[in-house]
Amino acid sequence: MPTASFDILPSNQPLADELRQNILKNPGFGRHFSDHMANVRWTVDAGWHGHAVRPYGPLTLDPAASVLHYGQEIFEGIKAYRHADGSVWTFRPEKNAERFRKSAHRLALPELSDEDFVGSLKALLAQDHAWVPTPANDSDECSLYLRPFMIATEAFLGVRPAHEVDYYVIASPAGSYFKGGIAPVSIWLSSHYKRAAPGGTGFAKCGGNYAASLAAQKEAEQHGCGQVAFLDAAESKWIEELGGMNLFFVYKDGRLVTPRLTDTILEGVTRNSVLTLAKDEGLTPEERPISIDEWREGAASGEITEVFACGTAAVITPVGELITEHERIRLNGNGGNDVAMRIRTKLLDVQYGRSDDTHGWLTRLV
Ligand SMILES: *Cc1c(COP(=O)(O)O)cnc(C)c1O
Repeated sequence: MPTASFDILPSNQPLADELRQNILKNPGFGRHFSDHMANVRWTVDAGWHGHAVRPYGPLTLDPAASVLHYGQEIFEGIKAYRHADGSVWTFRPEKNAERFRKSAHRLALPELSDEDFVGSLKALLAQDHAWVPTPANDSDECSLYLRPFMIATEAFLGVRPAHEVDYYVIASPAGSYFKGGIAPVSIWLSSHYKRAAPGGTGFAKCGGNYAASLAAQKEAEQHGCGQVAFLDAAESKWIEELGGMNLFFVYKDGRLVTPRLTDTILEGVTRNSVLTLAKDEGLTPEERPISIDEWREGAASGEITEVFACGTAAVITPVGELITEHERIRLNGNGGNDVAMRIRTKLLDVQYGRSDDTHGWLTRLV
């Protein structure tokens, strides 16, 4: 496929090697950004144009830019991994590109091609590959987190899809999500707030969904939980997902259940990959509705042995407990997370090039 060529406008103030090296030793998450950003403009008349990689820095936005008023925005999250031979790869970017188009369609934004999406990652990494951290060992999960996003930049206060849009990619080095081992987390069940409703934007990756989840997130923190689980809006009965991760349930008999996709659930690339890896592992994946009652009863009877959440940022996180207004649903085995950890290792081994990429999931960036 032809890749549109990006004009390169190199930064005349890239961070000094030594300072960058210091950041890469302990990058945290989402705090530091690389020297450049990719940008493609869109207008009704010209379509996508102006492909460029330019110095990272503040955007100039008209105060009337519609994204600031009506929230016409979408984003993606994807990582670049450094392999032992120094090469840099990303994981299933065509899935993110496809989802980005679905999100764009729902938010009435223009759709970006696979070539421009993957091309923008390649163009940015060609400049900023030194920002991809090198894992110190096999349990070091460092990466360069890439954040493509699209915003409505037209200066116009009328309510309609903007006629001017900008697409950007920024990059932020990330360390291991879990410091000092992976322990099962407690999750808060939001009974009042809902993340998504039928016909809404739940399946789209848009900032608005996250804005709507923050009050529930605050509630979770007040109850000592770092994450929120959301139930369906219509019946308050069916498990959907967390604010930014999909959920899986491991059964004693080898079934691996995850809520069936609806327009209120975001289709995670990690979720999709876990379903495939689970089959390779001899588990029986099932995509179907699962109720809060099934979680409660399965946890009590020992039928459900593990629960885990998954997403690009934290990969796979075991869930030990669900806390609600009225109860604490704790897994009987409490803390056993063998299946979650097995799938987690399999996934990471592919991403970091330590095992064969049998499903053809990797794309080389540098
Ligand atoms: C991004 C996201 C996920 C996880 O998707 P991945 O592609 O696996 O990173 C799950 N739920 C929501 C709401 C998300 O925004």
